[in-house]
Amino acid sequence: MSEVLISEVGPRDGLQSVQRTMATADKCRWIDALHAAGVREIEVGSFVPAKLLPQMADVVEVVRHALTLPGLTVMALVPNLRGARAAFAAGVHKITIPVSASAAHSLANVRKTREQMVAEVREIAALRGELAPQVKIEAGISTAFGCTIQGPVPEDDVVWLAAQVVAAGADESGLSDTTGMANPAQVRRLFNRVRAEIGERTGAAHMHNTRGLGLANCLAAYDVGVRTFDSSLGGLGGCPYAPGASGNVVTEDLVFMFEAMGVRTGVDLGQLIAARAPLLAGLPGEPVYGMTPEAGLPRGFTQGALLV
Ligand code: ZN
Repeated sequence: MSEVLISEVGPRDGLQSVQRTMATADKCRWIDALHAAGVREIEVGSFVPAKLLPQMADVVEVVRHALTLPGLTVMALVPNLRGARAAFAAGVHKITIPVSASAAHSLANVRKTREQMVAEVREIAALRGELAPQVKIEAGISTAFGCTIQGPVPEDDVVWLAAQVVAAGADESGLSDTTGMANPAQVRRLFNRVRAEIGERTGAAHMHNTRGLGLANCLAAYDVGVRTFDSSLGGLGGCPYAPGASGNVVTEDLVFMFEAMGVRTGVDLGQLIAARAPLLAGLPGEPVYGMTPEAGLPRGFTQGALLV
């Protein structure tokens, strides 16, 4: 029997792309609903200055609440050492550090070169050793499949960077299609190359659905052994560069695909679709995406027994 881990990133990747700020109590109700549906890993926010992302100003409170949910791995994004220190203090189980494979994107996004970001990962890993040895560190290679500023990103750069961040102390390194440029052949090729380089430390596939290839790219990653998938309920966030397109892969559609294939996700689809209600209550009028919630579950569709 095959299993995958669905890592919900809506409260971070989704909310950071939305102009409005969701109230803390609404975020907590939404996270509760995801947890009740069986989601067992949630990126609940990011430790960035509130000036830059006011949507994340309450991250400490949201983490505190998420930590009360049994069996949940509470994740947060941290861009630097300062964020990591705050995340460790807040008690998260896992942090994810975005490290851009595109030299141009790295400078534009965090004002650091890729080499400087690798050094940051090394410092964060050292701090983890001192303050919170139990916390897992993922360094996600962003813009791994292409970059809106630089254009194509050499595959050699991605493989090199994945090896660098793991050598710097990251427990795993996944690949992110930050700008929705990946295609399935590329996903297969690049994950294979990264796995050949860092083996079991190969982490999640983080796919965006900007051009409608999100699910195809996830399936391609699955075919070459990836078992952790980032996705966002309702594909929240959209993409400012592609009006009408959803942002992250839609969790509901991803869970439906896997469950229909007989691949266990541990997530109850009915309850997952119901988790859209607290999301919409917290962000009234915000567009959400997803074909499965719209079409409904097929007649006679049954899920395997839920994992515990
Ligand atoms: Zn993303």
